[in-house]
Amino acid sequence: MASKAKAIAAKSAKSKAAARKYKMYINGEFVEARSGKVFPVINPSTEEVIAEVPEADENDVNRAVAAAKAAFNSGAWPQTTAQDRGRILFRLAERIRKEAAHLADLECRNSGKPIVEAEYDIADAATCFEYYGGMATKVLGHVNPVPDNALSLSLREPIGIAAQIIPWNYPLLMAAWKLAPAIAAGCTCILKPAEQTPLTALEFAGYLTEAGLPPGVANIITGFGEGAGAPLVKHPDVNKVAFTGSGAVGKAIVKMAADTLKRVTLELGGKSPNIFFADADFEAAIDGALFGVFINQGEVCSAGSRILVEKPIYSKFVDAMSAKAKKIRLGPPLERETKMGPLVSKEQFDRVSAYQEIGKKEAKLAAGGGRPSSMKHGYYVEPTIFYDVDNSARIAREEIFGPVATVIPFTNEADAIKIANDTPYGLAAAVWSRDIFKAFRVVKALRAGIVWVNHMQPTYVEAPWGGYKQSGFGRELGPWGIEEYLETKQVHINLNEQPIGWY
Ligand code: NAP
Ligand code: MG
Repeated sequence: MASKAKAIAAKSAKSKAAARKYKMYINGEFVEARSGKVFPVINPSTEEVIAEVPEADENDVNRAVAAAKAAFNSGAWPQTTAQDRGRILFRLAERIRKEAAHLADLECRNSGKPIVEAEYDIADAATCFEYYGGMATKVLGHVNPVPDNALSLSLREPIGIAAQIIPWNYPLLMAAWKLAPAIAAGCTCILKPAEQTPLTALEFAGYLTEAGLPPGVANIITGFGEGAGAPLVKHPDVNKVAFTGSGAVGKAIVKMAADTLKRVTLELGGKSPNIFFADADFEAAIDGALFGVFINQGEVCSAGSRILVEKPIYSKFVDAMSAKAKKIRLGPPLERETKMGPLVSKEQFDRVSAYQEIGKKEAKLAAGGGRPSSMKHGYYVEPTIFYDVDNSARIAREEIFGPVATVIPFTNEADAIKIANDTPYGLAAAVWSRDIFKAFRVVKALRAGIVWVNHMQPTYVEAPWGGYKQSGFGRELGPWGIEEYLETKQVHINLNEQPIGWY
């Protein structure tokens, strides 16, 4: 044991020497934390320290909010036109595309996601900046038809200073979903990436000044939820909080934001049903079930983690799905053939492993269930399938956020709808059938913000994203995404030259 401990210490000392030191981005400058504190960033595949980033605390939060406030109220930003903001966003998109190979490599090393998926994410992040670059000039006011000799207008104005707190599963893409609409709207922002995955956001910070963004408009601070996230949410000068992450933190954020009545939008994940009727195309169904739950190692807020299967095909389905799951290529995320990398962190590995053990007591195991013996390092877990799961089991009710599928049988359409909706969550759902009438009846009955038919997971910046029930509130992407960063001002212009004449 002693020699093992020594080996780990030696390895971490060696990797620490190679670790790149990053700074965070406040008021257009790269800075250390005021306290001088830093924390390590780990490659979850090798378990090596790959970087060190500043650990922001309340002092740094205050500095970032002051910069965002000053930028919102004075200087170049309030004078920019929608066209200017659009052009800045287009330049950011272009820069992301230019640096795509480097960003994907960094995302892959930092998060553990397969390189091919990282490449898609980086391209999607660029597309998001492009989309909101175009949207900047499509924000329209109204003329209200009031019954008087007056001109009544509704103006759309930026909501102000936005705090944006994001998770680790799609690091740069989540940053894009938050920053792009806020900048298009004319807001200023402070983004806090997840402690595990700050690197691509910090890399991206280096593009902002060159793209023409004035200092203080977008600030990126690194740190922990308690130390940096909470003071950001509580800060009286922050007008809006946009959060993606766990339900527990989402609830805490609503409470913290209540004192100053901030606008809050929440995207909190779920326990999404993926429903397979017996008349679905069987091969497509098996693929869709696997893709729905195992893409990005299952670290997906909309993961189809409850797989509901109609009884006539149930046994065949479990067998075919398990056989294919056992062949999923798990390995180093930088290898192009890899379909599943490690989980993001030791903490997440322990959490998912604990659910695998809970599952073994609650249901039957068809595939996986532990750590792959082929991988010597890294936070790898096998794609795991439990079947004969009761919808009341913990593994069917709690968000695991890893590659753990629960397969649940159902008897008919009504039964499928009942089980599907029997969850506190309501982010996403999917239904597979060749019967368009049945599929659409189910779509209408499902209480979820996103429903796919004969597919699961494709996500587009043009279409709304967000949850029903305890999956949160507000919508991201599309025109809905920019709405969340806008206020509406009513302006009444009297066209009568006479006095009001009341007294
Ligand atoms: P989390 O704790 O909700 O973290 C999300 C973000 O919130 C991170 O930036 C986090 O900072 C920050 N945060 C944490 N506590 C905070 C506080 N008191 N005030 C303000 N901000 C705070 O999620 P996690 O710990 O990374 O993962 C735990 C579980 O959350 C997962 O297993 C999964 O079930 C769920 N999750 C859901 C999503 C989703 O897309 N809906 C994404 C990720 C995780 P730190 O990075 O320092 O924690
Ligand atoms: Mg956390």
